Amino acid sequence: MTDLATTLVPYDEALARYEPVIGLETHVELGTTTKMFCGCRTVFGAEPNSEVCPVCLGLPGSLPVANRAAIEYTIRIGLALNCSIASWCRFARKNYFYPDMPKDFQISQYDEPLCTDGWLDITVGDQPVRIGIERVHLEEDTGKSLHVGGATGRIHGADYSLVDYNRAGIPLVEVVTKPVPGTGALAPEVGRAYVTELRELLRALGVSDVRMEEGSLRCDVNTSIAPAGATEWGTRTETKNVNSLRSVERAIRFEIQRQAGVLDEGGRIVQETRHFHEDTGTTTAGRSKEEAQDYRYFPEPDLVPVAPSPEWVAGLKAALPELPSARRARLQAEWGLTDLDMTQLGNAGALDLVEQTVSAGASAADARKWWLGELARRANEQGVELGDLPVSPAQVARVAELVSSKTLNDKLARQVLDLVIAGEGEPDEIVSARGLAVVSDDGALTTVVDDVIAASPDIVAKIRDGKTAAAGALVGAVMKATRGQADAARARELILERIAAS
Ligand SMILES: [Zn+2]
Repeated sequence: MTDLATTLVPYDEALARYEPVIGLETHVELGTTTKMFCGCRTVFGAEPNSEVCPVCLGLPGSLPVANRAAIEYTIRIGLALNCSIASWCRFARKNYFYPDMPKDFQISQYDEPLCTDGWLDITVGDQPVRIGIERVHLEEDTGKSLHVGGATGRIHGADYSLVDYNRAGIPLVEVVTKPVPGTGALAPEVGRAYVTELRELLRALGVSDVRMEEGSLRCDVNTSIAPAGATEWGTRTETKNVNSLRSVERAIRFEIQRQAGVLDEGGRIVQETRHFHEDTGTTTAGRSKEEAQDYRYFPEPDLVPVAPSPEWVAGLKAALPELPSARRARLQAEWGLTDLDMTQLGNAGALDLVEQTVSAGASAADARKWWLGELARRANEQGVELGDLPVSPAQVARVAELVSSKTLNDKLARQVLDLVIAGEGEPDEIVSARGLAVVSDDGALTTVVDDVIAASPDIVAKIRDGKTAAAGALVGAVMKATRGQADAARARELILERIAAS
């Protein structure tokens, strides 16, 4: 049965009849200065094949030496994920042929990973989920192939291929979860939330720049389904290199719907790797794993075993930074925000921005209001991340301060932020250059109020009859006449005073 013959089952229907189980394998390029087994630099985007040497090119006679910083980073990741750290373990040689792998084997870890058996707690909606961590191991990255001349960028149809070994030998950590059953319809969101939390954790540890778009964080997503109530799990597929958080969610969702279609039609799921297509949100079959590959693993003979001392591990554990979940709990308490507020801040990627805005002097409520309201809307309109808007937390804090000191009202503040984003300078410069401050001195305001009263005898009559709510229309007219710069509360007071006195 080909992929194309399969009908996708609507998601809700699939979940009514099948139970999904997911698992995630995440590769993280470590941010060490040099590569895993040589002194070459680990810079992104350098001239192809400029960051290479005999060791990472696998030339005869060269010998690898393990990078202590990479081992330290891996232990710190393991500790932050509540893993046990091996007191003795070895690297293994994984033999396979691939053009972007210069040695034709990869130094990895096999049955003796550095870190095992941990967990990471996440929250999806208001439901806590504990994701078991099977292992965290250390290996070296491969190079990169570039297929030129074809329509798809894949080798099929290409005129020729180029290979860049700069990435070959960069330390790569693989974090493998245990299977995650029992999350039902939430499975795609659980997958996304896990990768999001893992990325935050790695960022807090400072061990990687965790840029999914540059490939320093890459995800393979395992998905299987089994009929509801079945005692055994289904056959899983492995969707490779899912390179954004949104894609993690989409890939799991698609696989659930596709696999349900195959099973409904009496087919069987083939254990295989699949490719995710960002443009269509679909997956297609890659390599079949029906016949297990034989990598002929054996302990790497050119490297000594890794035996971290208990003192070293204890020292690293004591020096772990505040982790994201603890930081969120602390900030929530300091700011007096609800769980929902915090979830919204997290989802919008606004936590750091709000924290910096509060540090710059704004109240948490103001910082939250501006970033999640007006600025989130601007970012959305421009199709950029919130943090990429050309406005700084300090500028947002200053605008909030101008509002609390009544120099600006909300409407003017929005204009000022727009002009900051447009590159007109600092909030104070914009306020004075554009004359945007609120008019609240009674002299100027009284003239406008008197004009408005004179122009609206009907409304004035209603107010005299005790219908003071009608004053709203006059306040609106004052705001209009001052192009929004009047202090609305003071204008209302003046309107009522002037009418009562006349
Ligand atoms: Zn090298």
